[in-house]
Amino acid sequence: MKRLDDRIIIKNKFNKDGEKVIYWLSREHRVLYNPSHEYALKIAKENHKELEVLYVYKKDFMYASKTVMNFHKKVLESLKKQFNSIKIKFILIVGEPDREVVKFVKENSVFALITDLNPLKIKRDWDKEIEKNIDCSFIQVDSRNIVPVFKSSEKREYSAYTLRRKITPILNDYLPEDSSFKKENIIKDNELAHNIYKQLEEFIKNGIYLYNDKRNDPNANASSRFSHFLHFGTIYSGEIVREVKKSVSDDVSDSFIEEIFVRRELAENYCFYNEDYLDISTQYEWAQKTLKEHEKDKRDYIYSLEELENQKTHDKLWNKAQKNMIQNGYMHSYMRMYWAKKILEWSKDAKSAIAKAVYLNDKYFLDGRDPNGYTGIMWSICGLHDRAWKERPVFGKIRYMNLNGAKRKFDVSLYL
Ligand SMILES: Cc1cc2nc3c(=O)[nH]c(=O)nc-3n(C[C@H](O)[C@H](O)[C@H](O)COP(=O)(O)OP(=O)(O)OC[C@H]3O[C@@H](n4cnc5c(N)ncnc54)[C@H](O)[C@@H]3O)c2cc1C
Repeated sequence: MKRLDDRIIIKNKFNKDGEKVIYWLSREHRVLYNPSHEYALKIAKENHKELEVLYVYKKDFMYASKTVMNFHKKVLESLKKQFNSIKIKFILIVGEPDREVVKFVKENSVFALITDLNPLKIKRDWDKEIEKNIDCSFIQVDSRNIVPVFKSSEKREYSAYTLRRKITPILNDYLPEDSSFKKENIIKDNELAHNIYKQLEEFIKNGIYLYNDKRNDPNANASSRFSHFLHFGTIYSGEIVREVKKSVSDDVSDSFIEEIFVRRELAENYCFYNEDYLDISTQYEWAQKTLKEHEKDKRDYIYSLEELENQKTHDKLWNKAQKNMIQNGYMHSYMRMYWAKKILEWSKDAKSAIAKAVYLNDKYFLDGRDPNGYTGIMWSICGLHDRAWKERPVFGKIRYMNLNGAKRKFDVSLYL
């Protein structure tokens, strides 16, 4: 992996006496193109230590639905097979990650503990707790972004425009070279891994050609449907971008690269540099002011979380999107924006709208509990990374979306 050392944050110093290097894998569920794994291998080799992979499975993770938990189990089976195929010991423990990792380190002779960097609060808190309670080296590796989040920028970026001009010129410097592992061996007899690569192949052959023109049409089946794979880190976005750029010209891939690279890394930047990423008080002043000014505006409808969850609104399009979310763990990106904006319109204030949107997003989406989701919700409800629009009731200057707009974009009756 190019520029591996650029991805490292060292928390504690090396414990010279330890015998094992442990990769505590929590976010990047893959062997191929996984910088955390590659860094752990490098440290183990350089110091003549053994490498083992540790996974702590947390039951009932963040009130996730059955569909989400079942998919997570499939991901884990695939992951275990992948490490078995390269003969690296994979240890699975059930419990609270911070407690179990500390216990494991204390009971085993650990030289260095390597983990995946994750800007979300839950993982930050686990890492802080672990760092305080172990005496071996503790290293976080950014294995999510193509350009490591702390290299692309030193601060929270204002918009896609400001991040784009920093990371686009250095994209090629960070795209991965071929992996030292043989892909065919890793994905052999591994249904999930095999299907992911089949989907990528199909997207590059056909789907990408529809993406520029049709990605905003929920009926067109023109988006990649990679988000749940990317969320679980079952494939690296750098590998996807490299393969896409190898196969099609820039004018075909531009809008897709904008989403999978710029928008995705903008979401990581937002959560990395703003620990309170769901707090309205961290939003732009114009947005806070306009939401406050319109808090007392009369709402035509106010729906409880239960009514929303059970698709009991007057809006058939919204209900259908919510139904899709529950049944398939997925919603098209245009509908996600519409969905969240309507939750703002039907809530007593922005704070309660965020809470309801986050609950549903994280419970039902296969790609939920992700910086992309929190950024998408804050974009829709609080104007994050957006600008002020024409003022109107309830929304103030936050960008508005309605059914007529949806009808202009796509065939709503077909979607229903
Ligand atoms: C209210 C709301 C909630 C959202 N919740 C989530 C979520 O929980 N998890 C999640 O991964 N995405 C979320 N998104 C972002 C986006 O809608 C999804 O990533 C996308 O719809 C997934 O479908 P796809 O893989 O076919 O995307 P494609 O259009 O094929 O895009 C390719 C990849 O680029 C990334 N991407 C696409 N759009 C965005 C975006 N706007 N911001 C950041 N990255 C993007 C995703 O990783 C996606 O898989 C949300 C957006 C909004 C507005």
